[in-house]
Amino acid sequence: MYKILLMGSQGSGKGTQAEKLSAQLGIPAFGMGQLLRDEIASGSDLGAKFEGILKRGNLVSDEDAAQMLKRRLVKPDTHKGYVLDGYPRNLSQYAAFDFDTPTHVIVIDVPREESLKRLGGRLTCRGCGKVGAMADGLKPDDPCVCGGKWFQRDDDTPEAISRRLEIYEKDTTPVIVKYGSRVKHVDGVGSVDEVFEKILHALR
Ligand SMILES: [Zn+2]
Repeated sequence: MYKILLMGSQGSGKGTQAEKLSAQLGIPAFGMGQLLRDEIASGSDLGAKFEGILKRGNLVSDEDAAQMLKRRLVKPDTHKGYVLDGYPRNLSQYAAFDFDTPTHVIVIDVPREESLKRLGGRLTCRGCGKVGAMADGLKPDDPCVCGGKWFQRDDDTPEAISRRLEIYEKDTTPVIVKYGSRVKHVDGVGSVDEVFEKILHALR
């Protein structure tokens, strides 16, 4: 049974690694943002409630989010486990996540300068919302295949990224402490496949 919490700052590559783990282990991978969108799309009562909350510009409470996760974790595809991407990210979410116990907590560590480098070159398409990288040759105002133009979002500036990385560290460090001996730190510097190998090793 693999009940894996995958933690890591923005730019740690954990989304990609979550997908690879899902394919390798035959278990679903999801993050709370995805679950929220799925819940709303399903037309459930809880989804309708979330839609209303978000429309008013408010945040879904930790209790409601945990309720949604609880429902997801009883679906039959999780019988061999799951990969939970980026949750719980603070002590309040940790407290709300009291209905299941992860078997493995993998923390992908990436030095702040490396995260800044990776995230600082991120561009978003104004047309379709797709995300791309300057490292791949894209430049602001270049056209996307959809006809829209690439641009750098305000929250992808170095200052905004630094601030988010600081918040991540401050909020998640106590969560990592709570999980104690279940936690394995993985060095997130290297190619996607190299980091994946390190994660598989940490799961053994
Ligand atoms: Zn586009």
